[in-house]
Amino acid sequence: MPVATVNPTTGKTEMIIESHSAAEVESRIAEADAAALALRATTFAQRAEWMLAAAEILDDQALGLGELITVEMGKPIAQSVAEVEKSAKAMRYYASHSEEFLADAPLEDPSTVGASQAWTRYEPLGVVLAVMPWNYPLWQVIRFAAPALMAGNAGLLKHASNVPQAALFLDTLFERAGFPKGSFRTLLIGGGDVAGVIADDRVKAVTLTGSEPAGRSVAQIAADHVKKAVLELGGSDPFIVLPSADVKAAAATAVRARINNNGQSCIAGKRFIVHDAVYDEFAAEFAAQMAALAVGDPLLPETQVGPLATESGRQELLELVEDARAAGATILTGGTVPDLPGWFYAPTVIADLPDDARLVQEEAFGPVASLYRARDAADALRIANQTTFGLSSAVWTNDPDEERYFIAGLDAGAVFVNGMTVSYQELPFGGIKRSGFGRELAAVGQREFCNLKTVWKA
Ligand code: NAP
Repeated sequence: MPVATVNPTTGKTEMIIESHSAAEVESRIAEADAAALALRATTFAQRAEWMLAAAEILDDQALGLGELITVEMGKPIAQSVAEVEKSAKAMRYYASHSEEFLADAPLEDPSTVGASQAWTRYEPLGVVLAVMPWNYPLWQVIRFAAPALMAGNAGLLKHASNVPQAALFLDTLFERAGFPKGSFRTLLIGGGDVAGVIADDRVKAVTLTGSEPAGRSVAQIAADHVKKAVLELGGSDPFIVLPSADVKAAAATAVRARINNNGQSCIAGKRFIVHDAVYDEFAAEFAAQMAALAVGDPLLPETQVGPLATESGRQELLELVEDARAAGATILTGGTVPDLPGWFYAPTVIADLPDDARLVQEEAFGPVASLYRARDAADALRIANQTTFGLSSAVWTNDPDEERYFIAGLDAGAVFVNGMTVSYQELPFGGIKRSGFGRELAAVGQREFCNLKTVWKA
């Protein structure tokens, strides 16, 4: 099965690449296995030198790589370049922090366990498979690869089938920077071929970022082989606005939270839950700003919203909006397909959703916001938590009691107060409920793919 770059702005197929044969996959797994052994014997300082060289390659090619990302998946060019820069920054962060994150930790009083000395140490697991999505073709991969390689693991990448050129760039990046051959390789395979790779004895663990069905399938296969899995799945994050908040600032940030990455971000604010006292003010401001966004060619610097990455993604979004419309919801703006080639969808705000509308439960992966009127803080919290997802959340309030109430009450992997959710290399990232399990980023993300070994000495 070939993989292909199909430009979502034009709908044209730009490049078709043949998938790897079974023999090629076998040879890449063998190479990764050998590299994992070699990496175990290297020092943090050596790996840091290579990681910094890899970051340098990204910085040197930021513009070209940015254009490649935009051509493959359609995000506005400034966001693509920022993604490259953010990835390079994370590589530098793990180059300088890994030794500290993975340092041996002695037990203060070893006599309590009858030892002269006792300590824990973090060791690499070996080859780790990463199954990754197209929405941040570079960042999603680097935020796994930088900590994993710095810990001494080797990586195999099964990237989304619609970003093969990004996958091939990543295939050689780490080797070009000096890492041993095979330390990080791409497998050009379909989702159906992932099971065989997870089952391989040389592959020790798997991480998947993507949809709930893909996560469920990969976790089941990993469980069958008793292998560690980390899942970063979808989200339908609440963005709550209360009367004590700066409503204008909240509305402006809500627009950015919803349309960043053309609305295709797992941590985008998707459900906007607004207290009755400020609902009308927020709704008017939010809908007006969503309607005013510049939709068009993402390679043009003035464009704020580009196309959806795939035709099927737009179809799914369109069906969610039509379901809401049929159920009696009010479309405040958008709800239309712009007259453009490619897979555009107008920035949309939908209010008055009945409980049985699909949008209440399902993730809208595109520039579609749903608006909910809350009677009071308790009602806002109820609406926020009435989802099967639990990735992140945002709450806008200047009342310290309310702030405490929402920080404690929101069922999510993160709470952002008076801001929008952003991933930072310094902060753990991940969800609960059907948004997955495990964490990425910070020290905890790096330790996910390490063996925490306890040492006891008489
Ligand atoms: P997807 O269909 O699940 O694809 C993600 C990756 O999984 C791709 O490489 C895909 O390969 C592969 N895949 C699909 N089905 C598989 C299966 N049954 N077994 C093994 N691998 C499989 O995800 P998407 O719809 O493209 O991406 C959007 C989703 O990702 C959204 O739900 C979004 O919220 C989520 N996401 C989550 C995070 C997070 O950190 N929590 C970040 C970004 C995105 P093919 O391309 O070959 O099908």
